[in-house]
Amino acid sequence: MSLIVQKFGGSSVADAESIMRVARRIVATREDGHDVVVAVSAMGDTTDELVDLAHQITQTPDPRELDMLLTTGERISMALLAMAIKSLGHEARSYTGSQAGMMTTAEHGSARIVNVTPDRIREALDDGAIAIVAGFQGFNRDSKDITTLGRGGSDTTAVALAAALGADVCEIYTDVDGVFTADPRVVPRAHPIEVVTFEEMLELAAAGAKVLHIRAVEYARRHGVAIHVRSSFADTKGTHIVAERGNNMEEPIITGVAGDVSEAKITVVGVPDIPGKAAEIFTIVAGTGANIDMIVQNVSAQETGLTDISFTLPKTDGEKVLHALRDAQGEVGFHDIVYDDDIGKLSVVGGGMRTNAGVSAQLFTALFTAGINIEMISTSEIRISVVTRGEDLARAMQTVHTAFGLDGDVDAVIYAGTGR
Ligand code: ASP
Ligand code: MG
Repeated sequence: MSLIVQKFGGSSVADAESIMRVARRIVATREDGHDVVVAVSAMGDTTDELVDLAHQITQTPDPRELDMLLTTGERISMALLAMAIKSLGHEARSYTGSQAGMMTTAEHGSARIVNVTPDRIREALDDGAIAIVAGFQGFNRDSKDITTLGRGGSDTTAVALAAALGADVCEIYTDVDGVFTADPRVVPRAHPIEVVTFEEMLELAAAGAKVLHIRAVEYARRHGVAIHVRSSFADTKGTHIVAERGNNMEEPIITGVAGDVSEAKITVVGVPDIPGKAAEIFTIVAGTGANIDMIVQNVSAQETGLTDISFTLPKTDGEKVLHALRDAQGEVGFHDIVYDDDIGKLSVVGGGMRTNAGVSAQLFTALFTAGINIEMISTSEIRISVVTRGEDLARAMQTVHTAFGLDGDVDAVIYAGTGR
């Protein structure tokens, strides 16, 4: 008998009928002889709706109260799912994050798991019950308050439970057939990947692939949790996320293409090209707590001794960084700042890049052929990213997907549509 942790996202439990379908799936696993622990997200768009509701009350909801509010979403789905399983004749018990022993840091809205003590979950399993745990939430011992793990955090709940319970596998059920070569909503010919490494998955998630919460992938890698991403709507093979590909398994040059429209670009124009200026600028940026991504510095024009420095950052950090830089304009001595939030970032990721030359040439040629201008470039060992105009991103992703031979024979199936 093995222990399986299953996580169901919001679109898999969007209404009563879906909850019954998910319950049947869980019961089928139980009837195959496995112990089952389930982590569940809030129904459909519940979390978004609760956030909207809070903002109708105040533009700056109190973080503690916002967590109190948002965690109710998962309490609804966990209770309904437990009822559904009981109605099918099996024992089930639902638990909040704190009841399940999810101990976190104190930061509301972005707490990190520090310890998991799932005693009550083990008890439930010993009694032959299926344990249902509310995703995305935990408890801080010092503040004695309820916390949330950040949007999309139920994946992390599932992985952390799997690690703490020593589960054989953590199955993440979603509304598509697994991890795709690209977001099938943008690239219709994308197809599910059978095996992807943690390293590739981390790069893809960081580059904008939304199928898994990046912290869940980090946690799984650190604790050696095997992840299997599958559709809750169909019985397809899904994607296995593993530490390493088997010896007889060929490493593709490009595993996947990711797109991201959540970043903006700031260009600091006319920066004196002397030692220390980049340090000054990025110390100011760091002081705002913003997380910057790509940085490009132009070669300075000889006549002027001035250069331009551009960087990308989350749009949500744009305003505060602009303010901080404008305040320091006189001191740093640059001429101007340009803010551009109409950019897209395309990334290609693949472990095989390490041992294959010419991947960037192939990428840039594909974009040139499609008439798409590249504004910035950055690379890691297994990733190349480029910034394009925002409106070009979808076409760029389709073009690059084709150019690297990733197109499947048929269009991808999307069962629900929200990607949760
Ligand atoms: N319900 C939360 C959200 O929408 C957590 C999750 O679904 O993973 O972000
Ligand atoms: Mg999700």
